[in-house]
Amino acid sequence: MKFSELGLTKDLLTAIEKHGYVEATPIQEKTIPLTMAGKDVIGQAQTGTGKTAAFGLPILEMIDNENKDVQALVVSPTRELAIQTQEELFKLGRDKHVRVQAVFGGSDIRRQINGLKHGAQIVVGTPGRLIDHIRRGTINLSHVKTLVLDEADEMLNMGFLEDIESILKAVPDERQTLLFSATMPAAIKRIGVQFMTDPEHIQIAAKELTTDLVDQYYVRVRDFEKFDVLTRILDVQQPKLAIMFGRTKRRVDELTRGLTLRGFDVAGIHGDLTQQKRTQVLKQFKNREIRILVATDVAARGLDVSGVDYVYNFDIPQDSESYVHRIGRTGRAGAHGNSVTFVSNSEMDYLKDIEKLTKKRMQPLKPYTREEALAGRMNVAADSVADIVKSTSGVANSEQVDKLVEQYDAKDLAAALLGAVANVEQMDADFKLSHERPLPHKHGNFRGGRRGGGHRGGGDHRRGGGYRGNRGQRERRSYDRGSRNGSGDRSQRGHSGLHVANHVIL
Ligand code: ADP
Ligand code: MG
Repeated sequence: MKFSELGLTKDLLTAIEKHGYVEATPIQEKTIPLTMAGKDVIGQAQTGTGKTAAFGLPILEMIDNENKDVQALVVSPTRELAIQTQEELFKLGRDKHVRVQAVFGGSDIRRQINGLKHGAQIVVGTPGRLIDHIRRGTINLSHVKTLVLDEADEMLNMGFLEDIESILKAVPDERQTLLFSATMPAAIKRIGVQFMTDPEHIQIAAKELTTDLVDQYYVRVRDFEKFDVLTRILDVQQPKLAIMFGRTKRRVDELTRGLTLRGFDVAGIHGDLTQQKRTQVLKQFKNREIRILVATDVAARGLDVSGVDYVYNFDIPQDSESYVHRIGRTGRAGAHGNSVTFVSNSEMDYLKDIEKLTKKRMQPLKPYTREEALAGRMNVAADSVADIVKSTSGVANSEQVDKLVEQYDAKDLAAALLGAVANVEQMDADFKLSHERPLPHKHGNFRGGRRGGGHRGGGDHRRGGGYRGNRGQRERRSYDRGSRNGSGDRSQRGHSGLHVANHVIL
């Protein structure tokens, strides 16, 4: 839905447009009209779905510009979130000239007091610092019309319940209360009952990131056996059309070479190939002249081929969201798909993070034995033999045929033919992949910076909020191992959260 359909006035619509928002997100679409109608609203939606603007826009709309009192108060769990919310409200309210002040601990309180004195109409603050200002009498909340409890689940996790209660006492009883949260534990519902008037509860269901149409497997392997495990899997699974991901260009080249040696229809693409070569390979793949396409994440971006029944993550992706993109190549248009992700012992944390993001469990796949792989090959060969027999009936009466039949019994002849077609020697063709370092442990050496590049600068990871559903578990896990829960870890979490956002919004 367009923002113009939500009853917002011109100044805000211009700001929204400048901000680059085109369509309202579902939580915005549902809660903005209710808020503008003066109702108390509980808004629940996944992290990154635009809850800030969901309360920010109607608040900005309702601000009386002539009035220099604090008219809206937003309570935010952390200073980062308070700053971020203040920035977003400031940008959206710039054309309307709304004054927004952030107050939080660890920064000069006198400057904040100054800002508050000079007509802040919206205040965004952390509980502790807000209470500080209330006690000092440096903030006047007696004209607040709208109170927002933002990221309410986070605030309760951080033990701010009492602080919130004190803040609620400092604002007028006659007010509008909005509560936004990614999750809705019982304690938050109680706040709703205790401190809100007949609230409307809007819940936006989390969008699924991977589909039930894809059976997702993982296989635990040690590095030196990875390639043999792969070719056995291919022999058994016999994909009709598969995309295989390798971490580096070298890896893609080597996999392509090794798989060719072992008799698979395969070609590779990566960024070092000429555009012409890449186009040619893709065309062959789309025409089914090649059954397995090996690629790096970058080269496969935007690749849209129908009928892919298997995705192989020969190297587990470093970012969970890459996994989602990779897997999205199969299980399309109602067709059933499969994925197999290779993972070493030290990479198990990456697997768990992927599962947290997708909220789906991968099934363990036991590596196949050589016998199982052989049986797989033989099955396919038997089908080919049937085709061969059908198409070569013309030679049935030749002298050589009679000779062979006299010389050998039928069983040996069939076995020889099958063996030749199956090309069994290829199965054991000698091939060694270069050693590719597994991904670094997620905990402990994280700060060392090898993953540092993953954070990608930009404004994104300032979202301290991030994907917080499993914080307790993660912290416990790293604590058990006696390692630090470094700041990098936290950024990583924020990072995933943002990508959840992208999937939902865009
Ligand atoms: P939440 O509070 O739900 O976790 P945020 O309000 O922080 O999410 O928004 C997440 C990101 O989405 C921000 O970068 C924000 O600017 C952006 N965003 C919000 N609303 C929209 C929209 N309607 N269209 C595009 N991007 C949006
Ligand atoms: Mg938020």
